[in-house]
Amino acid sequence: MQIAPDSLRRFATEILSRASGQPAHAAKVADRLVIANLTGHDSHGVGMVPKYVEGIRAGQLNPEARLEVLSDKGPFLQVDGHFGFGHVITEEAMELAIAKARENHFALLSLRNSFHIGRIGDWGEMAASAGFISIHYVNVLSPNALVAPFGGSAARFATNPYCTAIPATDKTPMTVLDMATSTIAHGKARVAYLSGKKVPWGSLIDAEGRETDDPTVMFEEPQGALTTFGAHKGFGLAMLADLLGGSFSGGGAYLPERVVDSRIVNNMLAILIDPNVFGGAEAFFGDLDAYTAWVKSSPPAPGVVEVMVPGDPERHARKARALEIPVDSGTWTQLIDTAKLVGMDRAEIFAFAGS
Ligand code: NAD
Repeated sequence: MQIAPDSLRRFATEILSRASGQPAHAAKVADRLVIANLTGHDSHGVGMVPKYVEGIRAGQLNPEARLEVLSDKGPFLQVDGHFGFGHVITEEAMELAIAKARENHFALLSLRNSFHIGRIGDWGEMAASAGFISIHYVNVLSPNALVAPFGGSAARFATNPYCTAIPATDKTPMTVLDMATSTIAHGKARVAYLSGKKVPWGSLIDAEGRETDDPTVMFEEPQGALTTFGAHKGFGLAMLADLLGGSFSGGGAYLPERVVDSRIVNNMLAILIDPNVFGGAEAFFGDLDAYTAWVKSSPPAPGVVEVMVPGDPERHARKARALEIPVDSGTWTQLIDTAKLVGMDRAEIFAFAGS
């Protein structure tokens, strides 16, 4: 079905608000989830609402948790999210980091113990909008290991995302590379599973370690695993995210003793850099403009409409989805079940669906 972004935002806000008793936080989270849908990342959109409600009901997501600053040394900031709503915690942490970067031309933010922080591009874009280059290493402590190391046949860690964002110029929109280190995000396997579709061949392995395109291996026994992108290279980046996002922050790398049912934790290292720290911003951005135009001028290969740069697919999705967001039937059913769970009646639910 297709739903207007505002209806989806209000529906997600209402569910999260009833589940958490924190309407202001619920509205912030719902807003960010709908941005994920608008940018084409349904895996990190409103389909996460049931997981957040499950986390609240299990006592693993604390909707009242506030960010705590553990250490504040010049440009270095270490914060603890105390398992609060990730979008709320991370927005506040990034605001603090941006203030530090304004003072010091640089900031290093080490964030630990936040419930799921969603699309990392949100945080890269936030820094880039404030004028900073921003680099993010993030690990995930999810109840099950999801991704197999290169050469392995069983999962050992999660989808550990990486992001780098560069501010826009008059000629070039923001450059935002924002990606899972798995070949596909786990949520994309979930969306494919719920809508009865296949995933790209080799993005998953079955329980025996054989490549497959069947998402059921992630959701039915015997469990398979996601693969890392780019073979050993993506695996290396995934490990760095666990070590720099997880171990360095104190939240911890993925180890079985750290994972808890119904809890999806992210730990993040964010590095913010003033592009003018050496007085060279004009030359830097001039080069960015020329280089981006040069790269995009490569004639498209057969079957390709245009050469895109990181951030382009999300901008295209935003245009295409500005009026209506497609929601697959599996995700919609889960949302309705969750709405009922938090006490919404049929009429209230269908008021949001517009039918
Ligand atoms: P993706 O594969 O759709 O895109 C990855 C990057 O490649 C993006 O920057 C995109 O702009 C760029 N890109 C895509 N197609 C392109 C093309 N044809 N040409 C040039 N550039 C292109 O993203 P993904 O790996 O599926 O990740 C989806 C989202 O999941 C991200 O927002 C990520 O932050 C999020 N995520 C979050 C967590 C978490 O625990 N919070 C974990 C994993 C992933």
